[in-house]
Amino acid sequence: MDKYNIVMPQEVKDIIKQIEAAGFEAFAVGGCVRDCILGRTPQDWDITTSALPSQIKEIFARTIDTGIQHGTVTVMIGKTGYEITTYRIDGEYKDCRHPENVEFSSDLKDDLKRRDFTINAMAYNDSTGLVDEFDGINDLNKGIIRCVGDAKERFTEDALRMMRAIRFSAQLGFDIEENTYNAISKLSPSISHVSMERIQVELVKTLLSDNPGYVMRFYETGLFKYVLPDIGRVLGGRYSRNALTMLKFSKKQPVFRYAALLNTLEPENVRKTLRELKLDNYTVEHVTKLVANSKVTIEENEPALREAVHQYGRELIQMMFEHEEAIIATKEEITGIKLAGKKKHLIVLRTMYDEITKRGDCICIKDLDITGNDLMEYGLKGPEIGKTLNELLGVVIENPRLNDKATLIALIEHLN
Ligand code: ATP
Ligand code: MG
Repeated sequence: MDKYNIVMPQEVKDIIKQIEAAGFEAFAVGGCVRDCILGRTPQDWDITTSALPSQIKEIFARTIDTGIQHGTVTVMIGKTGYEITTYRIDGEYKDCRHPENVEFSSDLKDDLKRRDFTINAMAYNDSTGLVDEFDGINDLNKGIIRCVGDAKERFTEDALRMMRAIRFSAQLGFDIEENTYNAISKLSPSISHVSMERIQVELVKTLLSDNPGYVMRFYETGLFKYVLPDIGRVLGGRYSRNALTMLKFSKKQPVFRYAALLNTLEPENVRKTLRELKLDNYTVEHVTKLVANSKVTIEENEPALREAVHQYGRELIQMMFEHEEAIIATKEEITGIKLAGKKKHLIVLRTMYDEITKRGDCICIKDLDITGNDLMEYGLKGPEIGKTLNELLGVVIENPRLNDKATLIALIEHLN
């Protein structure tokens, strides 16, 4: 262990040793080094090496050609894959996103130079210790995101880095160094060259971070003027504080964080924005419904709650409780007024929901003690069957004790 507390997993140590034994250099690099120094658990361990992909494939028994043209080979150790990438110099960037070509190098410094931020441009191995060519340690200690080299050049090469700068600042609670920040503000229009899928990844990582309110930086730098204008309007409008406060109080899951961010928009604009972001249908539908239902009040009695569970479904209703809790906390913080009544109402509904669930109260046709087949045997036909089942369900939701086949059959006589 050296003074930066970088403890590599045994498998990473072994990989590096094997590459060194074959006469090449190898280092852990990027996010894993940064996270170790910060005392965070790295998500994965990337390795950078002077060996060419073909040479890596000779050293290790099980490899996968992940991105061989960019120099990346995945080495499989047991079930875990480790990405090993040859030192690289990126060629000229043509589309604000991808280098035209890449060139391999035998100098670690070349590889560190192509990386986005100083805190992401450090390398480490046990024999050499930390390699920090761009003062990454200093920026880590100061809590600063700074481009490697000239910020304007780096963002012109690859516009996605502007989103990454803000995302890392949110994840780490860091500031963005002035030149880096100003370069984002200046070059923000070029964000339109970046695919929505990539923008979405950075946005959701920001929203799910410990500082979701840093999403404001996407607005302040102008990035959300050129893409996602509706989110820009939320963040720049009169309900901006509501959105930022609600983000803070909402559960760290995409559905809740998106719903908090977009809660002041009309449901159709919520759907439009989420579709623009190319989100999956599950997220689009659930977030839109949460926002659309956020003004629904469920009465404090069991039949009303069972009816609501029937209408919205078990999953959504629990999400609605969660969403409501964040709304109440937001209102309390913004107005400074305690909302004891609303809180109590929510507690009562949640307790009631648990009781209904534990008892197994009937809330849908499937839960009825009678089926379509039973009704057919009874002599009902076609559309009568569905209609009758729905009517019986209405009765049982009012009074669950009636959910018994004989009672239901007897009831049919009384339905009109
Ligand atoms: P995370 O914890 O989110 O995985 P990370 O730092 O590992 O963070 P990755 O996107 O996995 O980020 O990239 C790994 C490393 O590759 C980064 O640390 C950085 O050095 C470099 N890198 C990634 N994307 C870019 C980019 N667009 N431009 C320059 N360097 C990049
Ligand atoms: Mg990573």
